Amino acid sequence: MRTSPAIWLAACLLQANLVFSNLVGFGLHPFKIYCASACQWALQAYPLECSEKIPKGFLGWATTSSECKANDTAWLTTLAWCLHVNCKAHRMSELQAFWETDATRDMTNFGNTGTPVPPKWSYEESLQQITEPPRKMPVDTTTVLNFTALVPEIEYQAQLNTALGVTKEQETGAEYGVIILVTGFGIPIILTWLYHLPFTSGLLSKITPYLTQPSSLGTYSVRPLPFLLGNAPTIGQAAYIAIFFIIHIVLMSVNYRSMQPHLYYPGESMEIKAYIFYRTGIAAYALLPLLILFASRNNVLLLWLTNWSHATYLLLHRWVARLFVLHALVHSFLALPIFLPQQAVVDSDYWAWGVAAAVLCVAILFASVLPLRRWSYEIFLVTHVVLSVILVVGLWYHVVLWIGLDSYGYETWIYAACAVWFFDRAARVGKVLKNGVRRSKVTDLGNGYIRVDIPRASFANDGPGLHVYAYFPTLSLWRPWENHPFSIVPTSLMSRVERQRPEQSSGSSSPTAKESGVHINVHDVEKHHGFRDTASAPLETGITLLIKKSMGITKHLKATDGLLTLMDGPYHNTSTREIRHCDRLLLIGGGIGITSLLPWIASHPNIKLFWSVKESARCLVEEVQGVLSEIEKDVRVGRRLDISRLLEQEADVGYCNIGVVVSGPGGLCDDVRAAVVAVGKKGSTSFELDVDAYSW
Ligand SMILES: Cc1cc2nc3c(=O)[nH]c(=O)nc-3n(C[C@H](O)[C@H](O)[C@H](O)COP(=O)(O)OP(=O)(O)OC[C@H]3O[C@@H](n4cnc5c(N)ncnc54)[C@H](O)[C@@H]3O)c2cc1C
Repeated sequence: MRTSPAIWLAACLLQANLVFSNLVGFGLHPFKIYCASACQWALQAYPLECSEKIPKGFLGWATTSSECKANDTAWLTTLAWCLHVNCKAHRMSELQAFWETDATRDMTNFGNTGTPVPPKWSYEESLQQITEPPRKMPVDTTTVLNFTALVPEIEYQAQLNTALGVTKEQETGAEYGVIILVTGFGIPIILTWLYHLPFTSGLLSKITPYLTQPSSLGTYSVRPLPFLLGNAPTIGQAAYIAIFFIIHIVLMSVNYRSMQPHLYYPGESMEIKAYIFYRTGIAAYALLPLLILFASRNNVLLLWLTNWSHATYLLLHRWVARLFVLHALVHSFLALPIFLPQQAVVDSDYWAWGVAAAVLCVAILFASVLPLRRWSYEIFLVTHVVLSVILVVGLWYHVVLWIGLDSYGYETWIYAACAVWFFDRAARVGKVLKNGVRRSKVTDLGNGYIRVDIPRASFANDGPGLHVYAYFPTLSLWRPWENHPFSIVPTSLMSRVERQRPEQSSGSSSPTAKESGVHINVHDVEKHHGFRDTASAPLETGITLLIKKSMGITKHLKATDGLLTLMDGPYHNTSTREIRHCDRLLLIGGGIGITSLLPWIASHPNIKLFWSVKESARCLVEEVQGVLSEIEKDVRVGRRLDISRLLEQEADVGYCNIGVVVSGPGGLCDDVRAAVVAVGKKGSTSFELDVDAYSW
């Protein structure tokens, strides 16, 4: 589905506007006038004549309804006097506005109960009822407020500090949450755009072999680290991760301000701990949209705004997830000493949801380790999605049951995360519907290799570097949603094989076979497969998948003429722009990796293909030899390529810049990366590298 960038941009801006306007300190201001709220809270503890009586022996505050306050003379005059004394910096009109909306608010549940009843007097009228300055203070919270009282200074100050301290910290947290989101989102865009500026591109291409291309840990990149610990980032990816972590450490460490006396958190150390607790919680929430965005197929950064690959975003998704869990754990461990002594908190539902969310995010982290993804990708995927949905629900209840909606705006991060998720899912469904239901022709090429011809795909000739997620619902009746990524080759390109075969049917060796020193008898191949009528119109506009069977759904692929097929796509592996602009393009493939290299053949005028396959993949060579007939190539069956030597030879020719696209087993991809880095550092030729590894 081709969606205009303007629509994407509009959707992003709309979402950004929604996020920012619904956060504390941005669009939300829980306290309109701090001094006035401090007066209100300081008086809250004292019962009025009309308050609900607290049964004898029970501790706690009296419940005073809004109606009660609105008609209670003592409440109105005491509050008015407190405002008069403490809010001198505010204009009369501001205080009157507060008076109308908040003076009689029922403060149970943080002031979120019902709509306040209008007071019987205005602020000014209430002040006029006071004939002389009050001197009497309530003794304790059992004192019934039936006189115009003076609010105890210590009480007022503690209320003011608490309201100011907590709210300012929430505002700082929200501000830093926005910084986290904007930097996480913005750094990839800035770095991509920097690359395209005329005066920086030369410099950047010089530092590429030092910064963006090499792995940060030896030559490990696509190959997993020992003990399947995961994948090492490249230095460029590691730099992004490091910058992001440093930003977090700084934002979690600065700008704390203790305001004692404090009602919730007595003592400076306890107060600062509580603020770190708040801030790490907010940071975790702020990471949610980014976390989901980086894992999305329909990621606006991936599709439009950057030249980073899906593999890079998935790697970053994992690192952002680790940061998310780190924040959640710091938040949780700090909560223990602060709130465990408060039985009411520990017994609350929001505490229970918080504990559940903390446990869940750690569980998701462990359930996503590479050995598990390798063992069964489908089980990993289903568990990952289900647990993540429960986690998001848990996070929602954690805040909503604690503070309600629209107080500090925590729920906004969840809305943003859900919007990103639903957008991705809706786009996937849209693409599947647009591509329609197809009946594919499946051909068994032998030795576990399969060719799938899917007719009438509108994107068949959209260029190289594309893959689709194919659904074969009849192969997985119990999991019809299962879909897998495959590189696409235009069927029209593949048809060259068939067109050339009649001329070659005398049994001569193919050029490919000759070059590789291996004789391939095409006549025998034809007899084995029979001729396919792929020149018909539907297939010409279709796509071809070449698949190496694995242990899951691909194991069930068998020769047939009408396999029910749905497609979500196409998606770019990575931007092809830089590679297309190179003087020379080297395509380096191993085995089934040839599928993502084939479409390049029609996309660049100066190409050489290096392809090595095992003896068992000879059928694959035979299948695509027609496509390769007119290009410069080095195809080896049963023999390996000397990557360093071939790159050095190409660099010696004196090209200004060489594009290298590699696709195949992890070892080959990592060898090519290491060789490109080494040769790139040595000479004057610059290299663009695109790694299409078939694993994430
Ligand atoms: C961008 C891309 C393009 C690809 N193109 C091709 C191609 O042209 N030809 C080809 O033969 N293979 C290709 N692959 C690999 C192919 O997707 C897997 O081999 C296929 O998903 C295996 O399916 P299965 O159920 O039989 O595998 P299983 O045996 O269940 O899994 C084998 C391995 O495949 C990977 N895998 C499984 N499902 C997925 C998934 N949904 N998403 C990502 N990885 C998964 C996992 O690493 C897993 O360990 C490509 C992979 C990617 C990421």
